[in-house]
Amino acid sequence: MAKTYDVAVIGAGPGGYVAAIRAAQLGLSTVCIDGWKNAKGKPSLGGTCLNVGCIPSKALLESSENYERAQHKFADHGIEVTGLSLDIGKMQARKSKIVDTFTTGISLLFKKNKVDSMHGMGRFVGTGDGGYRIEVAGDGTPEVIEAKHVVIATGSLPRPMPGVTVDNKIVCDNIGALSFGEVPKRLGVIGAGVIGVEMGSVWRRLGADVTILEALPTFLAAADEQVAKEAFRQFTGPLGVKIYTGAKVASVTTGKSSVTVEYADREGVRHVTEFDRLVVAIGRVPNTAGLNAESVGLKLDARGYVEVDDHCATNLPNVYAVGDAVRGPMLAHKSSEEGVAVAETIAGQAGHVNLDTIPWVIYTAPEIAWVGRTEQELKAAGVAYNAGQFPFIASGRARALGETAGFVKMLADATTDRILGVHIIGPFASELIGEAVVAMEFGATSEDIARIVHAHPSLSEAVHEAALGVGKRAIHI
Ligand code: FAD
Ligand code: NAD
Repeated sequence: MAKTYDVAVIGAGPGGYVAAIRAAQLGLSTVCIDGWKNAKGKPSLGGTCLNVGCIPSKALLESSENYERAQHKFADHGIEVTGLSLDIGKMQARKSKIVDTFTTGISLLFKKNKVDSMHGMGRFVGTGDGGYRIEVAGDGTPEVIEAKHVVIATGSLPRPMPGVTVDNKIVCDNIGALSFGEVPKRLGVIGAGVIGVEMGSVWRRLGADVTILEALPTFLAAADEQVAKEAFRQFTGPLGVKIYTGAKVASVTTGKSSVTVEYADREGVRHVTEFDRLVVAIGRVPNTAGLNAESVGLKLDARGYVEVDDHCATNLPNVYAVGDAVRGPMLAHKSSEEGVAVAETIAGQAGHVNLDTIPWVIYTAPEIAWVGRTEQELKAAGVAYNAGQFPFIASGRARALGETAGFVKMLADATTDRILGVHIIGPFASELIGEAVVAMEFGATSEDIARIVHAHPSLSEAVHEAALGVGKRAIHI
């Protein structure tokens, strides 16, 4: 007889493992099924985020920023560094240790919360007395379990580029880009999205000559235009990354130790460029092909996303889907919050995620973060707004840090003063955006933030001053 659960979660990324823990906390018998294997061929929980996404990329970002500081910034503080050297092996080992700590940490959290963990790929194989039947194909004989409720959290995969084969040695996706054993002399990147600029800046800081080819005529189209413009200036100026927008890649030819990319620039001029490594980062697609969706009539849309309503419910009773496998931004915190909401819904509580207040962060230097609507979106929608802006160059704390590039911009409704969007490019933008998210969730006005005391000297004063600026009463500019 198949083992029966209240809840089966398929996928143990930030959507799935969080859903499983929350379901178990609420007293539901829960199993989490995950098929991920790491580079050593071992099962590793945590999905894309922990294994080959958020966590390893941020570990390398920090290492590369430290190298950059030691090389170029310490001298300003009167700290002389001689004999500086780079041990990429050690840097990668540090990254892997951080990843291992967190992935094994999930196993411990599962034990603590009494979540059963099964390794293998899960797929629907019909229904039985105990609910949905799911076959789990791991290293041994496939097993079948049954569950009254199913949470699909199978995440996403890199979007393949037609005619380009990723070998993760010379032509890489995010997995290869996080694992280079040495700094490539010439690094090409296709796609100036989040992965392209994050990975491009890591390897640039470590010494690579980086060229990014972007198909769209615009740079970071989802960001506020003014922020995107400042980011472009910073990345192509002080950082020294070459970014070509409006570039059409015609062919990618992989050789023994290099790769040749043929592309037309925005004027249509043909270029043929050789790189030592190429990263292809042109977006991600939902990972739903292995679910055997048709066996139970689960509805996927034309692009392979599981179709869900505002509460992550699919077309099947008691089947939910969360995270990168469904509509909305592909962000770890969005996946996790949907996981919590779904577990609480299954347990009879009210679960909901407000997609309008999901913070976005791009972990470059300077960092970029935003929540809510951009100026161009407000203009297109005909919404009247007031804007307040404060540059970090006028912040005492930013000066002390030596990180003065960028600004905070707050947008508030012209009639009600309610905050509609906050856009930051600058130091610790990822931390500063938290205040803006809280403010928007509580329906705050710019005046609310303007009247709150912010510690001095702190970067949060820039958010305060931007709020004051909405009412044309900023003090320090
Ligand atoms: P995933 O993390 O993709 O997890 C899905 C899991 O399900 C995987 O383990 C997969 O193997 C497993 N699986 C799939 N199909 C099956 C099946 N049939 N049976 C069993 N298991 C299955 N987001 C941020 O918010 N901040 C960041 O800084 C950030 N950095 C990133 C950097 C990179 C390089 C990349 C690639 C992504 C980054 N992201 C970041 C995005 C983030 O990683 C994803 O949004 C997040 O991991 C999605 O979580 P998920 O649980 O939906 O799916
Ligand atoms: P992306 O959607 O951010 O960017 C892809 C870029 O590639 C776009 O600018 C697109 O116009 C461009 N592009 C598409 N086809 C192209 C082509 N043929 N030639 C040249 N350019 C082309 O995707 P990504 O950078 O691959 O990242 C995937 C997702 O992972 C992101 O959308 C994000 O949700 C998530 N992610 C988040 C973070 C973070 O939160 N800090 C970090 C990394 C990844």
